[in-house]
Amino acid sequence: MSSVTADPLASAIVKLDPASARIKRFSALTTMTLPLIGTAAAAWFLWTGTYTTTDLVLFVVMYFVHMGGITIGFHRYLSHKAFKTSPVFEGIMMITGSMGAQGPLMFWVTTHRRHHRFSDREGDPHSPNLHGWSIKARLRGLWYAHMPWMLSDETSKWSVFAPDVLRDRRLMWYSRTYPAWVLTGLLIPAVVGFAVEQTPMSLLTGLVFGGFARIFVANQAAWCVGSICHAIGSRPFDNKDRSANNWPVAAFTFGEGLQNNHHAFPGSYRHGVTWWEPDLSGWLLFGLGKAGVVWDLREPDKATIERKRAMKQAA
Ligand SMILES: [Zn+2]
Ligand SMILES: [Zn+2]
Repeated sequence: MSSVTADPLASAIVKLDPASARIKRFSALTTMTLPLIGTAAAAWFLWTGTYTTTDLVLFVVMYFVHMGGITIGFHRYLSHKAFKTSPVFEGIMMITGSMGAQGPLMFWVTTHRRHHRFSDREGDPHSPNLHGWSIKARLRGLWYAHMPWMLSDETSKWSVFAPDVLRDRRLMWYSRTYPAWVLTGLLIPAVVGFAVEQTPMSLLTGLVFGGFARIFVANQAAWCVGSICHAIGSRPFDNKDRSANNWPVAAFTFGEGLQNNHHAFPGSYRHGVTWWEPDLSGWLLFGLGKAGVVWDLREPDKATIERKRAMKQAA
């Protein structure tokens, strides 16, 4: 593995001052634990039959909103500029992405671009492959890449990893108002649950199922992309890293689990290089493109894909 010091962008990974590191750790721990407690409550409500069909519908609908916002908005639009759209649809994507409670969009985009830059090398914020190769070390790496990486006391310089976002006043406003959108994502299912069922209990179960449990399940799936999809799966392309296509993860994350394809063609709006690979966000974007909601969708042509595939076979 090559050293991070060889990369000029390595100096853009900096240590936070103690106060900022504490704030980062506190918000990461809150993001990990509160949804877990909410999921325990949801399990209790399921066990005791204290739920309605409305709660299950709220869970599913909010899961779609959450995953769509993160994968289409934060990832393919914001981090990779895979397509263009109007300010209104951009706003919808940034708000629903923020409801995913994976951190303000500026944290997300800088972390993610750094992940691509240093993929599975020193400097990658969440690689499972930097902890050694014994079974114990690999399991420790998988766990670190899944969640504890968020507790680190370092940050990725905004001006280096996302100067485009930093210049955009509208995007920065969505980033600054992040806590309000997380709260909105919790309140919407609570209010809708109450409006439909008209009982005080439905306010609580709506919050638990459509809010906390949804955040927990969707984020566990999303974090499998950083852990499992850099360890287990197929590798049709040689990306000089451990990124892998993992179909079960891809199914739950609307295509993000096709990491090997994505690292081969990071600027593509599709993560499937064939139409049958599970890439719900890619299929949705194709439809949104036909409807004129998004445009200038970037994707590699067939010849480029085949050339890259042949490079792996020749190696
Ligand atoms: Zn990756
Ligand atoms: Zn990416």
